[in-house]
Amino acid sequence: MSRVYNFSAGPSMLPERVLRQAAYEILDCGGCGQSVMEMSHRSEEFDEIFYSTKERMRRLLKINDSYEVLFLQGGASTQFAAVPMNLMVHNGKADYVLSGNFSEKACREAEKYGDVKIVGSSKECGYAKIPTLRKRDFRGDADYFHICLNNTIFGTEWKKLPDTGNVPLVADASSYILSRPMDVGKFGVIYAGAQKNAAPAGLTIVIIRKDLIGEPMSFTPTVLSYKVMSESDSRYNTPPCWCIYICGLVLKWIEAEMGGLEGIEEINREKAGLLYDFLESSKLFKGCADRGCRSLTNVTFTSGDRATDESFIKGAGKVGLVNLNGHRSVGGMRASIYNAMPKEGVERLVEFMRKFEKENL
Ligand SMILES: *Cc1c(COP(=O)(O)O)cnc(C)c1O
Repeated sequence: MSRVYNFSAGPSMLPERVLRQAAYEILDCGGCGQSVMEMSHRSEEFDEIFYSTKERMRRLLKINDSYEVLFLQGGASTQFAAVPMNLMVHNGKADYVLSGNFSEKACREAEKYGDVKIVGSSKECGYAKIPTLRKRDFRGDADYFHICLNNTIFGTEWKKLPDTGNVPLVADASSYILSRPMDVGKFGVIYAGAQKNAAPAGLTIVIIRKDLIGEPMSFTPTVLSYKVMSESDSRYNTPPCWCIYICGLVLKWIEAEMGGLEGIEEINREKAGLLYDFLESSKLFKGCADRGCRSLTNVTFTSGDRATDESFIKGAGKVGLVNLNGHRSVGGMRASIYNAMPKEGVERLVEFMRKFEKENL
């Protein structure tokens, strides 16, 4: 069996090296005679996995001691609710920017818990760009300001963060985290479902400035309380042990083999460059996102004709380039090229696009 190049937006590819290591350790992890899946989450063996993963995360993202790193369950969607329940507790207000489907969902969720103001939206243009903001629309007394750093479905990303003054910036970084270095100090909270770029589905990473951890709203489920989760070191209840273990292997791979986040960024820029350069010159395909907002990790494009798009996706699948369909809500194509997608995968895709164009123009 040969492995395919999987362009899915998530769950997505994991580094082959990591999968091999996990397979090697599946029956006996580190000589303890059991799999990580079977280990007590309070055992010494798991402690070692847990703390080394957290330390590596801190090292790679240069997270200092004023921040807490939490390994939670429930996906990014659960954070859409946890963020307001934990943070909208002083003035009951938050500002949101709508830049895609997920930021809309986050906003709708927050509206259940307080006064939410939409301070920018690019919905009218089909989320093809990051909205332009006017600083005077921001509320100085908002408890936080929420953005989605990379819009997985539409293929756009923030190139410059908004200046929110003293209002903590909260970011959904699900399809952004670990794709490049990040200045964590600019954020109050960063949260991410791990299944895009860090681990299998089931782990949610939350990086939060410690001074923002306080009493949540009284009805907040205990497992969604940042305070409880921080005090119990993410182990109030059983954490997603297996996913944390794989996340550790992924971080190790980035550190030891890919040259850290700087190295990964360089490769990611090369990969995205190959695709965007081809799209610039193509007579059949065109990119969906505005030039100035194009994502490093999700490249959206279309031929403009549904039948042609469908035949492209089908043809690509036949040669081992799979899951190139756009999100069901937008159609077209999307190539998600996270860290684990090798450069050869992108080269093969561009080659196939070139060939398809020749045959279909
Ligand atoms: C995938 C994704 C989500 C949803 O994540 P779940 O873990 O499935 O809840 C939210 N936001 C962004 C930016 C995503 O890419």
